[in-house]
Amino acid sequence: MLEIRGLRVGYGAIDVVHGIDLDVKEGECVALIGANGAGKSSTLKAICGLIWAKSGTIRFNGKDITNQSGHSIVRAGITMCPEGRQVFPQMNVLKNLRMGAYARRDSEQAQDIEEMMDMFPILRQRATQAAGTLSGGEMEMLAIGRALMARPKLCIFDEPSLGLAPKIVAEVGEIIGRIKKMGKTILLVEQNSLMALRLADRAYLFDAGEIVLEGTGEELQSNPEVAKAYLGH
Ligand code: ATP
Repeated sequence: MLEIRGLRVGYGAIDVVHGIDLDVKEGECVALIGANGAGKSSTLKAICGLIWAKSGTIRFNGKDITNQSGHSIVRAGITMCPEGRQVFPQMNVLKNLRMGAYARRDSEQAQDIEEMMDMFPILRQRATQAAGTLSGGEMEMLAIGRALMARPKLCIFDEPSLGLAPKIVAEVGEIIGRIKKMGKTILLVEQNSLMALRLADRAYLFDAGEIVLEGTGEELQSNPEVAKAYLGH
């Protein structure tokens, strides 16, 4: 579904992703793990058209989407649930959900909003509350719901557990598992490497802008280097 070849990304003269190859097959959950600053988020941003790819290609369902605008990438079927949630703080929960569907032209948004509220009952309770006043966990549910409102084929999650209490982190992991069971394809960047590798069918380990290891979630969990550096044992 997603095929990245030789992707190079940087800021100004400095390159932070040095020509990576990466694949996500339909229905898979693929995790990107690695230290801070390894280039995971920059890779996601390039896929979503938020920053420029200096070279290389990104193909989605056979179509070249390299350096296309963010909204055309959303229309192609990719949505990102961004690091830090980035909800629209002044808008209420309902309006934030509607914003997720802005690129859609069908008339089923109301039905999908109901589905999101069934999936995240807290959002129904908070429907008219300003999104900026939600707790971190509630905001994450909203950011996930807003991303799903685009009816994406590929859902990208950037650090969904960041800054959340352990109980909520477990809930977020469970929700991502449910989204996978709904048949969505998932690309996940997560500092909580154990959670990511448990969820992932396959994973890539990033180090200083390169992919240094690739395998199934289980393979990476049982790799001694990964266990020592990223899983704390
Ligand atoms: P983290 O988990 O900390 O987000 P990451 O693997 O996602 O790490 P990136 O956020 O992609 O890493 O950052 C890769 C490198 O690019 C880092 O050295 C970072 O300082 C740099 N970088 C990121 N955003 C910018 C920017 N807007 N301008 C300049 N440099 C940037």
